[in-house]
Formats: sequence, structure tokens, C-alpha cells
Amino acid sequence: MKITRLKGSECPTCGEFQDAAAEANGSDKVPRPGDIGVCFNCGAINQYDKNSKLQSMSEEECLRPDMKLALMAQLQVRKNINTLMGEKLI
Ligand SMILES: [Zn+2]
Repeated sequence: MKITRLKGSECPTCGEFQDAAAEANGSDKVPRPGDIGVCFNCGAINQYDKNSKLQSMSEEECLRPDMKLALMAQLQVRKNINTLMGEKLI
């Protein structure tokens, strides 16, 4: 999986500065407006706006049928967080 460096944006949920992205399906494209970004720090599902800034998504938006890959990425991030913390929260 290729990591793409970005100008960067803070996660609207946890405030962590996100200056990199990795495509969940393994490709190496740069995020475009409307693309989904899962925060590497907290697992929040966000969306890139036209200025490549991360914007929050509502719970309803996150549960759309086309969000399956984003939800799987969120689970992976949260699993990694739990492993780092030595806890099993999910
Ligand atoms: Zn976050």
C-alpha cells in the first residue's frame, strides 16, 4: 500500500493533523473532493472537501451502503488502537 503525502488537514473529531493518505483498496491515487478519509488516530470517517480539508460526516452518511470499505478501514484503525493500548474495546 502506497502512502501519499498531502498538504494536510486536522481531523474534525480528534484534531490530529493528517498529512498522509493510503488508499484502502491498494491503489495510489491522491484523495479528491468527496473521497472518504478515515482518521489514522481516532478512526473517524471524514470526507475531503474541495480544498482537501477533512469534514465530518453524519452517522446517517456513514451508514450508506457504499460506505462498506470505509467502515472496514475504521474497524482496522480502531483494532490497531486497541492493540496499542493493550485493550480490546471492540
Ligand atoms: Zn481523528
